[in-house]
Formats: sequence, C-alpha cells, structure tokens
Amino acid sequence: MKKNNNRHFSKKNQAQKARINNVEHVPSDKKKTFAKVNGGVFVYSKPLSVSELSEAINVPVPNIIKFLFLQGKAVTINHVLDDEMIGTVCLEFGYDFKKEKVVDEAHFEEIEIEDDPSSLVERSPVVTVMGHVDHGKTSIIDAIRHSNVADKEAGGISQAIGAYQKEHNGKKITIIDTPGHAAFTAMRARGASVTDIVVLVVAADDGVMPQTIEAIDHAKAANSQIIVAINKMDKPGVNPRKVKEELMAHDVIAEDYGGDVIMVEVSAKTKQGLDDLLDAILLKAEMMELKANPNRYAIGTVLEANLDRGEGPKATLLVQNGTLNAADFVVVGDIYGKIRRMSNENGQVLKSAGPSTPVAVTGLSSVPAAGDRFMAFPTERQAKEIAERRALEKLEKTRSKTSAMSLSDLNNLVTAGQVEDINVIVKADTDGSAEALKASLEKLSEDKVRVKVISAAAGAISDNDVLLASASHALIYGFNVRPDARIKALAEEQGVEIRLHRIIYELLDEMKAAIKGKYKAEVVEKVTGQAEVRHIYKITHVGTVAGSYVTSGEIKAGEKVRLLRDGAIVYEGTLESLKRFKDDVKEVRQGYECGLRIAGYNDVKEGDVVEGYEMVAKEEA
Ligand code: GDP
Repeated sequence: MKKNNNRHFSKKNQAQKARINNVEHVPSDKKKTFAKVNGGVFVYSKPLSVSELSEAINVPVPNIIKFLFLQGKAVTINHVLDDEMIGTVCLEFGYDFKKEKVVDEAHFEEIEIEDDPSSLVERSPVVTVMGHVDHGKTSIIDAIRHSNVADKEAGGISQAIGAYQKEHNGKKITIIDTPGHAAFTAMRARGASVTDIVVLVVAADDGVMPQTIEAIDHAKAANSQIIVAINKMDKPGVNPRKVKEELMAHDVIAEDYGGDVIMVEVSAKTKQGLDDLLDAILLKAEMMELKANPNRYAIGTVLEANLDRGEGPKATLLVQNGTLNAADFVVVGDIYGKIRRMSNENGQVLKSAGPSTPVAVTGLSSVPAAGDRFMAFPTERQAKEIAERRALEKLEKTRSKTSAMSLSDLNNLVTAGQVEDINVIVKADTDGSAEALKASLEKLSEDKVRVKVISAAAGAISDNDVLLASASHALIYGFNVRPDARIKALAEEQGVEIRLHRIIYELLDEMKAAIKGKYKAEVVEKVTGQAEVRHIYKITHVGTVAGSYVTSGEIKAGEKVRLLRDGAIVYEGTLESLKRFKDDVKEVRQGYECGLRIAGYNDVKEGDVVEGYEMVAKEEA
C-alpha cells in the first residue's frame, strides 16, 4: 500500500505540525515571552506598563518616566503605555520596535490563517443552491448528485449528511444539499460563512421572484460569488433573456450584457445544461483561486448535528482548512471529543479529510449547533483545556449581558425587591390576540411591580423585536408564533428570552408567578424522537400521509410534534395518526418506517423532519 506522508503525524512531528499551524499550542496565560529584544528590535505583543518595558529593554524606570515627561506625558511606574509611547521610548533608547499579533487559540474563529503561499494547494469550491420556492433547487441538487455514477460504483449508500462532493472533469465540487435561505442565514447569524459560490436558481417560466431577490441579498452580504442557473428550459416558450433582464435590475448582470455573472440555461428535468453549470462552477472557482493548506490541523464549521440514539452526538463538519484525521481531538463550539468514526456522504469510513471535504463524525461529548466552528488539536489535554476555556468565556459573556432579561432573572430580582417594571414585547398570530394579551398582561401589574408592554403586534418575531428587547431589558412573548432558526440564534446571542405559548391563561399564569417571585423554570421540553419524511401520499377524504423513517428516538401516536423544514419550524400540532403498514400503532422506534398524519396539516413535503416532544420536569430532560 502506498504510504501517504501527509496524512499521519507521529508524536514527534507534533511540535513541527503545531508550527505549521501558525498557532502556538501554548495556553496564552503561559506565554511569558510577550516582550523581548531580538537583534536590536524590541518585539512585543500586548500593552506594557512602564516597569515591564523597563525590564524588557533594560532601561531604568526613572529614565523612561523622565523621557516621557519631557515629551509632555506624565506617567507612573504602573502606567500602561500605548503603542505610540512604547515606540517613542524604544527609538529614544536605541531600539527599533515591532508589535506582534498573538493568536489565542481559544478564539479559533478569529484566527486569520496566514499560510505560507508555498504550502497552499487548490481546494474545491463550496456551493450553496438558493432561489425562489419551486424554481427547482432540490431538483438541481438531486440531478447533480445522482449523475454521480462513481458513487454507485463505489457501492456506497448515499447518506443525508448535509453536503456532498461531486466529481466533474477530475475535480471536486462540494455542494451543500440543504437548499434555501434558512440554513444559509442561520449559519451567517452565527458568524460562519462557508459558501464560496451561490448557485441562484431562477425558473425561466417564472422569472425573478421575492425569494430570488432575498437570495441575491444574502449572497452579496456573505461575499459569495453568484452563478445563475436559469432552470426549466425544457418548458415551451420560455425566454431566458427576460430572466437576465429582470436580474439586471438587481445588479446581477450576465456576461452577454456586459457584466461578470455567469448564467447557464439548464433543465433539471431533461438534465440539459447541468454539465455546463458544473463547468461554470469550476471556472469561477479557478478565477477565485481557492486555496488551503492540507498540512495543518483542521479548522472548519459544523453544517448540521443531531443526537443519534445508537451512535450518540453526530455532526457533519466541513473542513475548511487543514486535514482532519480520524482519531484527532476536536473542539467544536465549546465541547470537545476524540473522533470515533469519520465517514463521507456515502457512509464510507475515512482516515483523513482535506480542505472542502464534508464529513460525518461521531465521538463528540454533546451535540454542537450548526454554524459552530471547530478546530482539531494534537492532544486531548489541549482540546479539553480549550473547550473549557471557551465554555467559561461563553458563560461570562452571558452573565455580563445586562441588556436583556430572562424570566428566571426577573423572578430572582422580584424576590430581591429589585425590580419595578417588567418590560414585555408581545408578538401574536392576530392583532386581536396581541391587543388582548397586552391588556391582560398590564392588568397583572401590582403596586410594587408593573408589567409594561412596550410593543404588541401581529406577526412573526423579527430581528427588530429581538434588538428592541435587548435594548430595553425586555422579554418577548410569542403567542401562536415561533421564531425561525435565525431569530433564535440572534436572541441567544443577545441574551434575549423568547417565551412561547399557545394558551393565554398559561402565559398569564407564568407572568403572575414571576411577579410574585414564584416562577420556576423547571418544566422543559424534551425531544422524544425524529422522523424523516420520505414519501408523500395524498389520500382522498383523509388528506396527506407522510411515509416516514424514524431516524432517532421514537414517534408516538397523539404526541406533540413539530414539523421542521430546512431547520425551521413550519408547523406545530399533534400526531393524529400513526401506522405501520395498515395498522394503527402506538409508537414506532428508530430504524422503522411508518405512515403519519399531523392533525389539520396537509402541506408536508419530502425531506421534512417530524419532531416529537413532551414537556417534562427539568431533571428528567
Ligand atoms: P425547489 O422548491 O426550488 O426546491 O423546487 P423543486 O426542485 O422542488 O421543484 C419544484 C417543481 O418544479 C417540481 O414539481 C419539479 O418537478 C419541477 N421542476 C424542477 N426543475 C424542473 C425543470 O427543469 N423542468 C420542469 N419542467 N420542471 C422542473
């Protein structure tokens, strides 16, 4: 067997590898050498006090103080000097100076990787497909995927891991296979940007529609390049020029109109033009000169994650730089673990995964969130220490947030007699219920504690609501509305609590308890299982039946469920019927197929996820 020198690093090589990484694998508090003279140049990396500078450049403290005094700057021995003062002192005493940037590896999302150009190799482009609903995003993703003869030959069974790699003309293209904006924006809301190229799908028979424009905005905001796929070209009488002209109004200008956006005419149905689309992606990628260094520890982003009953926490990671090796130690978000099993989209076990490769991994200590960044480390001790520091920093950050207020905080403040006004924002499904809630909530006010509804309106919980809540110490009540994944992430980031209710008296009881200092946040939600919808059957007089496969836990008849599409909740209700073959059953466990119906909801689609949950005491969750 051919030995691959790049892939496996022995312990001896770890020091060298760490250096290749540009990241010193030393906890920053142990970095004592933050300032030293090196060949006549004083190199430092953080602000210094007069005494520290004195020691480092070997000039007595009084001399420095006197010199600065003559410059019109009165300082004392413990005064921390800014860069300008350090510079003038150094020059005065015969040194050149240089400030070095230290990278704290605990903040690995902030690391700007500066690989030596000679260590860089070409990497495949990462592509997300976006566009208006029904314009053919899913069809294009599937058509491209299934033209992968090689996959079938390799005997793999394709797995839904959130991304796959397509080979075309000997090169690879990484395609994120959850189409649409929800996943893309949820990631961006968390500061992660993984997409190099957005393929904007526009149906030739429908033209530019509202979500087309949204997709353009998202792509531009993320600095991704756009390639337009004008789809459904097989339909009679369609006119691609019209699409190009419509796009022009949004500053997406085709090459034949003097712009630089490649537009390809395709049909996901007849497969016409799909090769050209792949050619265009590779061409664009070449122009973008996408490069990475495979000889460093991996760094990248979580594309999706879930809890697998059998295998535990499971995550799809996109390696963005470096090489991830099976058995590496990784920190993901603020958890860590040793990779137990690493596989590709065909379920094949991998020993290593280079830049732009999506992999499914197990072995993490808990389930990370999509958009979390990860980094691999050579030892468990380092991974553990970094994860602990990150967890601590996150906690401190949450604690130091004074802007927003959770119901538990509020409760504690009321108990301590420290609160007079409770600010609330109400979002409800109708104007009527928003108004009714506002009136009822304000009526709960007591002498010592008043409830102030600062905004009450119908509609989904928006960015604006979260920012308003954050700015005004408010909590948000959602009545018959749910925030999408992006808003949830924003609220979490801002430390804003969103309370969701469907029953008015439950909402009022909760607030009543908080006002009296008796609120107990002890009931929490527990997800009992998830099923993936694989086939839709429309049955007369019955409605839509979703042929599904239970992917985790168990699904129970009559339980509360929500329907997730692209990670966002599209519906909540109860499971009206659950069948195995023709028989009604009480529950179906992981690994089994079933037919299910959600009461009052017929718009289930293939690929949706049905999630069952129950409310339990916190200890049981
Ligand atoms: P998405 O919502 O953007 O993911 O769109 P889908 O891929 O689900 O496609 C929506 C509908 O358009 C489906 O009924 C597809 O069969 C149909 N469709 C997609 N691509 C084509 C195409 O190239 N030609 C035709 N005639 N129909 C298409």
